[in-house]
Amino acid sequence: MIDAMSRGGSVEDVAIVGAGIVGLAHAWSAARRGHRVTVFERGAIASGASVRNFGMVWPIGQPPGEARAIALRSRDAWLEVASEAGVWVNRCGSIHLAHRDDEWAVLEDFAATAPELGYDCKLLTREEIARHTHAANPDGLIGGLFSLTELGVDPRSVIRTLPGWLSGRFGVRFHFGVTITDVEPGKVRGSEGRCWDAHRVVVCGGADFETLFPTLLRESGLRRCKLQMLKTVRQPAGWSLGPHLASGLTLRHYANFAAVPSIAALRNRIAEETPELDRWGIHVMASQNDAGEIIIGDSHEYDSAVEPFDKAEIDDLILRELRRVIRLPDWSIAERWHGVYAKHDAQPLFEADPLPGVHVRTGTGGAGMTMSFGLAERSWERWT
Ligand SMILES: Cc1cc2nc3c(=O)[nH]c(=O)nc-3n(C[C@H](O)[C@H](O)[C@H](O)COP(=O)(O)OP(=O)(O)OC[C@H]3O[C@@H](n4cnc5c(N)ncnc54)[C@H](O)[C@@H]3O)c2cc1C
Repeated sequence: MIDAMSRGGSVEDVAIVGAGIVGLAHAWSAARRGHRVTVFERGAIASGASVRNFGMVWPIGQPPGEARAIALRSRDAWLEVASEAGVWVNRCGSIHLAHRDDEWAVLEDFAATAPELGYDCKLLTREEIARHTHAANPDGLIGGLFSLTELGVDPRSVIRTLPGWLSGRFGVRFHFGVTITDVEPGKVRGSEGRCWDAHRVVVCGGADFETLFPTLLRESGLRRCKLQMLKTVRQPAGWSLGPHLASGLTLRHYANFAAVPSIAALRNRIAEETPELDRWGIHVMASQNDAGEIIIGDSHEYDSAVEPFDKAEIDDLILRELRRVIRLPDWSIAERWHGVYAKHDAQPLFEADPLPGVHVRTGTGGAGMTMSFGLAERSWERWT
């Protein structure tokens, strides 16, 4: 434990609003510094973006520099927390598969500068890919980019397990079923009128822009994004996906590839050949959880397009594109759902301090599982 007193700080009462991954990471970071932490979650269990994702801890997707350093720091924290809390974590790595020449060109360009930018990755031939995974579709496969840094976690069990562990290990108190309706310096108020004192309040409300600080959030540049997801049944015993797998479509999605010269040609080809994929923001990825099920996604619809109704067309396109690049023993779909996250176009995390001792932290976009622990550590280093 990092003792706040021995670092010259004082022990604070800290209130965290929201028990998604951003709230839990900030609770962990505060508690390990010796602060007295209370977490408020309006649901009986947290059921926002943090339980609806792939469970991919994905440092490869972050651009070089500070963002990647935060992702790698988060990765270390995941390994520490998972080991202490008894949570399943898979050091599976990742492969971006290239089935088209323009996809391979992007991977080659990226790999050429990756080592000097600090990425631990290498190109694989199709034969080498077969040694890592039996799931890559060999039809048209050119090669892939292998990275060791990615982890797999089961988001549903993590978000349910960490509160109990934080309580037992650090004495963090949780109030589930309590909506915080008002925050002022030194105090939070719950939906039934009860108040709690706190030296510091951290609001980690995810994509809720209405309940707390609505004007600030409305004017922040934050957007809502909806993603459709699917999960297969459990694959046959012993069958393993191996690393997380991503297709060539994914190359246009993550910031690490944004500066690669050949990305423009790939974007143009996809826009001309398959405009329906751009229309719904579709790229395809697959991860496997510890139950052996394959989690599949995803699409991206923004702001006014975020509606409660899922589109069968999107699910069909995701499956069509994934079947082009991977093979599974059993494609039977067990579950479909969507998730909504908050995203800021210019920042990996939206940070605002609207009142003394009151901090708003949200907007981790598609990288909250990857970034939250590192971002929380950075927050607490600034505050103590
Ligand atoms: C489909 C999908 C796939 C994704 N895949 C990945 C992935 O593989 N890897 C990755 O790194 N990231 C991924 N992400 C992104 C990641 O899931 C999010 O960035 C992250 O979960 C956001 O966490 P959060 O804590 O901000 O929000 P949430 O998980 O939504 O949590 C916010 C919580 O705050 C509570 N709350 C809100 N207001 C109040 C209030 N006033 N009082 C009390 N409680 C309140 C809510 O009930 C909620 O539980 C994915 C996201 C989605 C949707």
